Amino acid sequence: MSWVQGAAESNYGIHHLPYGVFSTKNDPTPRIGVRIADQILDLRMIVAAGTCSGCDTCSALSATTLNPFMALGRDAWTQVRGQITEALTNNEMRTAVSQGLVPVNEAIMHLPFTPADYVDFYASEHHATNLGRILRPNSEPLLPNWRHLPVGYHGRAGTIIPSGTDVVRPCGQRKSADGEIVFGPSVRLDIEAEVGFVVGAPSRLGKPVTPDDFAEHVFGVVLVNDWSARDIQGWEYQPLGPFLGKSFATSIGTWVTPLDALAAARAEAPEQDPVVLPYLKESDRFGYELSLSVSLNGTEVARPPFAQMYWTPAQQLAHMTVNGASARTGDLYASGTVSGPNREDCGSLMELTWAGSQPLALSDGSTRAFLEDNDTVTISATAPGPRGSVIGLGEVTGTVTPAIG
Ligand code: MN
Repeated sequence: MSWVQGAAESNYGIHHLPYGVFSTKNDPTPRIGVRIADQILDLRMIVAAGTCSGCDTCSALSATTLNPFMALGRDAWTQVRGQITEALTNNEMRTAVSQGLVPVNEAIMHLPFTPADYVDFYASEHHATNLGRILRPNSEPLLPNWRHLPVGYHGRAGTIIPSGTDVVRPCGQRKSADGEIVFGPSVRLDIEAEVGFVVGAPSRLGKPVTPDDFAEHVFGVVLVNDWSARDIQGWEYQPLGPFLGKSFATSIGTWVTPLDALAAARAEAPEQDPVVLPYLKESDRFGYELSLSVSLNGTEVARPPFAQMYWTPAQQLAHMTVNGASARTGDLYASGTVSGPNREDCGSLMELTWAGSQPLALSDGSTRAFLEDNDTVTISATAPGPRGSVIGLGEVTGTVTPAIG
């Protein structure tokens, strides 16, 4: 039990303890904090109050981004999580530790880590099947490679933005309804509700990571909105894949949930057929029971279930490095759109409105095929924690602003 008020009922209880980077109006220096209930524990103050004269861990925790701490690896992550748990549960430490608490509503949240590389996968069988049916209606919905490898592409790390940042409607080339090639603001702006995995401990160039080493490298999880301009994407993507239709912005949640906080959310992943090649074989195959919720201007429009993803995050990391490519501290790899078997389980408007042909009704009486200017999209998620508790991942939200130029 934590002594912090409200912790027992909060989705940010003592079993969660996500990491973020924040500043305040009075103290604009970004610093690392851990969220508990409606408070943020400023780790800089905890380090200053201790007796350490500058070990790697203390200097990493005094940084303005999570990267140095994430680079230290699992032993340091476990040790620090234990110390924070002790500080927030031990009543004798209450007076001292309370000095380091800052109310969440006074905090300005920043990107929690400096992104290194960004990879986006395509791991939901339901999403890939839906897109296949929409884009290639008269052929087999899944392409021949899909069940053999986790399909992915490299995205643009430099345009990863923290939750709450506005998204300017992108401009680009598209093919108009009468087949003309035109330039202008995207008219089919979409979202993709995804779960992102953040690499902490790097891997060595030339040496693949096995699926069983997943937890040695992955520090934690963030929610991702992979904004997608379907009209730009549809015209540009062959033969080299997504480019400007995706690279204008990717939003991430500002709280990184440690992998350890999701231990109770581990769930059996779907059986794979055909049997995968040995480098993708897991000795303990699991996904995570995360229930996502997507809302558009306050109306919940989808509830995508992450547990049914065909390719697991461990397989994705193994695939991403099997050619010898190294994983770096700060690499973000996202699951791909999370979609379940039913229409209301789908994590993109492309599927929810079936390419715009069946608009959604919002609670204000309006309808949407794709996003309009000033629309706000928020993705949240919950997961089971230990002993009946609930973990709530940091939400990712963003508002579309009009195109510039
Ligand atoms: Mn995506």
